[in-house]
Amino acid sequence: MRDSPLDIINPATEEVVATVPDSGREDVDAAVARAARAQRRWAALAPGDRARQMRRFAAAVDDHLEELAQLEVREAGHPVGNARWEAGNARDLLEYAAGGVERLTGAQIPVAGGLDVTFHEPLGVVAVIAPWNFPMPIAAWGLAPALAAGNAVLLKPAETTPLTALRLAELGLEAGLPEDLFQVLPGAGPVAGDALVEHPGVAKVVFTGSTAVGKQIMAKCAAGVKRVTLELGGKSPNIVFADADVERAAAAAPGSFLDNTGQDCCARSRILVQRSVYDRFMELLEPAVKSFVVGDPTDPATQMGPLISAAQRERVRSYVSESAPAAIRGEAPGGKGFWYPATVLEAAPDDRVAVEEVFGPVAVVLPFEDEADAVRLANATDYGLSGSVWTRDVSRALRVSRAVMAGNLSVNSHSSVRYWTPFGGFKQSGIGRELGPDALAAFTETKNVFIAVE
Ligand code: NAD
Repeated sequence: MRDSPLDIINPATEEVVATVPDSGREDVDAAVARAARAQRRWAALAPGDRARQMRRFAAAVDDHLEELAQLEVREAGHPVGNARWEAGNARDLLEYAAGGVERLTGAQIPVAGGLDVTFHEPLGVVAVIAPWNFPMPIAAWGLAPALAAGNAVLLKPAETTPLTALRLAELGLEAGLPEDLFQVLPGAGPVAGDALVEHPGVAKVVFTGSTAVGKQIMAKCAAGVKRVTLELGGKSPNIVFADADVERAAAAAPGSFLDNTGQDCCARSRILVQRSVYDRFMELLEPAVKSFVVGDPTDPATQMGPLISAAQRERVRSYVSESAPAAIRGEAPGGKGFWYPATVLEAAPDDRVAVEEVFGPVAVVLPFEDEADAVRLANATDYGLSGSVWTRDVSRALRVSRAVMAGNLSVNSHSSVRYWTPFGGFKQSGIGRELGPDALAAFTETKNVFIAVE
C-alpha cells in the first residue's frame, strides 16, 4: 500500500476517527493475482463445504453486529438504529446466499443422440465498487452471492466509509474463509476503482454510485466485454391519489425521503399529490416532517443524522434557493457536523431540484390532475429505480404500478429492499438486478455440455 493514508471523518463531529491505506494500481494488480489463485481453490470445494464456510462467516458477523453498527455510526453518521439494521442486513445476505450454494442447479435438456446438461460456472474474480450511503448492505449485496457462486471478491469501499468493509474482511478470515478470497482495497475511485475496472483479471464489476461514474465504468467494461451490474441514482415518485388514506400517506412520507438523510437511491424525493387533496396533504405533512427526530446518531431515538461530508452539504445547498421560501423546513443542529434540515419545496416539474437527484433531505411536491397525469409526471425522468402508489383502489394500484417505469414499486408503503426479492433500476437507474432468488446467477456463466451416447 502507498504511504499516504486516507483520513476517515465522523460526519457528526468532524473528528478524524481512523486512517486507512490508500491503495494504488500496484496494490490492485497484486490483489487480483492473489484472488485468482484463491478463487480456483474455492470453486473446487464441495458445495456443502463452501456453504458451511459462508454460514460461519454469517455467524461471525452476527457475533459482531454491535461493533459493526458502531463503526457505521462513526464513519457514516448513521443513526444507531439504522446502523444495527445495516449490520443485520449484511449477516442476512451471507446466510441467504449460503443457502443458494447447494441449489445452484443446472438443467437437463432433451436432445437426440446423447445427454445435454447445463452448469453455472463461477466468473472468477469479481470487483465490487461500493458507495458511502449504505456501505455495509451494498457491499454485502455483491459480496455474498458472488462468494456463494464460487468467485473471489475484491471490494473497493467509498473513500469516506471503508471501516466496516475492512472489518468484514477480518471477520471472514477469522471465520475460516480462505486467505485472499475476499480482499478490501480502500482508495480513490479514479485510482483503485479505475484499476479494478480496467484489470483484465477482473471478470465482472458490480458498481453502485452516481450515474455519471456508472456510465464511464460501463464504457470501460465494454472494451473487454466485461460483465457489469450498475445500481445508479433515482428520482423516485411518491404518488398520492385522492382516494388514498391521506393521513397515512402524509405520516409515511417523511421517512421516504429523510431516512439516511435522503442519501438513498430509492428516496421518494418527488411527492405527486392529486390536486383535490393537495392542501389537506400539505397540512398533514408539515407536522410529520417537523417531528422527524434529527440529532446525535448515537442516540437510539434519533431518526436522521448529518450528511456524509461538507462537499455533500454544499451539493445539497446548491439545489435550494435562498430567496425562494421552503414550503416546510425542519430543524438541524448547529456547530460541528455536516447537518442539513429537512426541506420540502413546491417546485415546477422542470426545476433543477425536481429533475436531478439531490441525495439529501430535500423533496419537491407537485400537484397532478388525474391518473394519466400522475403516470406522465412519474415517468418524466431519466431515472427509474423506485416509486410508491397510495390509493384504496386495488385496480388503480395495479394499473399505476405497471405503468410506472421503475424497478421497485410499493403500494401503500415505501418498502423497496428485501434481500430475498429482486432489486434494480429501469432506464438510467442501472442495469442488471441484485438480491432475490436469482442473485447467485448474476455471478455465473451458463455452460452447456452435450455428451454423445454410443
Ligand atoms: P461516486 O459514483 O463518485 O462513487 C461511488 C463509488 O465509485 C466510490 O467507491 C468511488 O470511489 C468509486 N468511483 C468514483 N470514481 C470512479 C472511477 N472513475 N472508477 C471507478 N470507481 C470510481 O459517487 P459519490 O461521489 O460518492 O456520490 C456522488 C453522487 O452519486 C451522490 O450525490 C448521489 O447522487 C450518487 N450516489 C448514488 C448512490 C446509489 O446508491 N445509487 C450511492 C452513492 C452516490
